[in-house]
Amino acid sequence: MTAETPRPGSRALLIAGGGLPSLALALALKQAHGPALAVTVVDPSGADSARHRGRAYALAAGGRRMLDRLGIWDRLTDAAEPITAMVISDSRLADPVRPVFLTFGQEADDDRIDGAPFAHMIEAEALAAVLAAACRDAGVAFVTAGVVRATPEGPAIQAQLTTGERLRGDLLVAADGARSRLREAARIGWVGWSYPQVGIVATIGHARPHEGRAFEHFLPSGPFAILPLRDGGALGHRSSIVWTERADAAEALLSGAPDEVLGEIERRFTLDLGVLALEHGPSRHPLAVGLARRFHADRLALLGDAAHLIHPIAGQGLNLGLADAAALAEAMTGALRLGLDPGGPEVLRDYERARRFDSFAMAATTDGLNRLFSNDALPLRLARDLGLGIVDRLPGLKRFFIGEAAAARGTRPRLMRGEAL
Ligand SMILES: Cc1cc2nc3c(=O)[nH]c(=O)nc-3n(C[C@H](O)[C@H](O)[C@H](O)COP(=O)(O)OP(=O)(O)OC[C@H]3O[C@@H](n4cnc5c(N)ncnc54)[C@H](O)[C@@H]3O)c2cc1C
Repeated sequence: MTAETPRPGSRALLIAGGGLPSLALALALKQAHGPALAVTVVDPSGADSARHRGRAYALAAGGRRMLDRLGIWDRLTDAAEPITAMVISDSRLADPVRPVFLTFGQEADDDRIDGAPFAHMIEAEALAAVLAAACRDAGVAFVTAGVVRATPEGPAIQAQLTTGERLRGDLLVAADGARSRLREAARIGWVGWSYPQVGIVATIGHARPHEGRAFEHFLPSGPFAILPLRDGGALGHRSSIVWTERADAAEALLSGAPDEVLGEIERRFTLDLGVLALEHGPSRHPLAVGLARRFHADRLALLGDAAHLIHPIAGQGLNLGLADAAALAEAMTGALRLGLDPGGPEVLRDYERARRFDSFAMAATTDGLNRLFSNDALPLRLARDLGLGIVDRLPGLKRFFIGEAAAARGTRPRLMRGEAL
């Protein structure tokens, strides 16, 4: 498919990168503005959702409300499992028992958001497919190519593609991932560092039901999370694991035969979910934290991991990206409704103001949690166990952990509160 040609007098948005937050942005804006805004998504893998296979994300209540408002949540029920409780424990791998320090959801209604579960596990391939189909239905254009260069030209920006084609828009959104080439080309600085850890992701089948419970075991090498998926697979029930391991140990742990890899997973699982089987993966992901010094340049806005990268310890990266999409759609809509420039400096400043502090706070908190938990020093172990006990008694802090602190303060963009643009 080729780019959408703007009608005379209409505006154009170009999005480099077709990840999940980008698709949500494209859909929100196209639904709100129809032919008055041409929206084109450019990605080397087009709108192919298969690259998300085997990945599942914890979607906080704000993200769920946004998908509901965009009219696609009902189409995702087969791919979304409510997290009804979260149990956190802290121990060494060899410890015979894993004391539980923190629980969400089990005992109290105030851990639920609007009477709904505080989060859902959502399968990324299904989410990408539903978003892409809804985008197409709404009239978003997809171009299978990469953006190699972006050149601001007065009141517009030109994107040069790997195919040689050139596209013009009022704004280019750089949603090209954590190693964003467009961010670098725009000379936007990046503050961050790599962790000596990798994230190992797999889908595990099990014989007994998980009953909607998510577990996060803090082990000295990093958190090992077991997250409930919709029933299915060879053994009837499934969970996704996100296993943070020391990078230097991961190679040896994962290089064995599938049975040996499953054995390593079983040692960490410690749940009575019966017989286990490896259904998908494991895949390995380098881990790092980083924040762009600015979220915009001339006619360019950074979105998603291109703007901020965080440790998956709290499962919030995609949620931040969706909040970016909601905030940028809101800022652009404000301008479009007044007949103003949707890619101008005011819109870009409003967007940055809405998103940079939230992103910084989440990056700093997840970095701090990872430092606190991913080690085996006794004083730190005592301090953090005491800390978790305290957090368990403070609903306000729990809300932060479940990604709803900002929503509770009313600072979230409208779509994340379930309101129309
Ligand atoms: C182990 C792990 C577990 C996680 N778990 C969770 C979780 O439970 N909950 C949660 O909220 N988040 C989670 N995350 C974070 C989440 O995966 C990311 O924040 C999110 O996927 C980022 O989406 P994105 O579109 O910004 O970037 P990406 O998904 O990296 O997409 C970037 C896109 O840009 C395209 N691209 C690259 N270069 C160009 C170019 N030059 N031109 C055009 N297109 C280009 C790529 O093809 C790609 O499609 C996890 C991350 C990891 C590593």
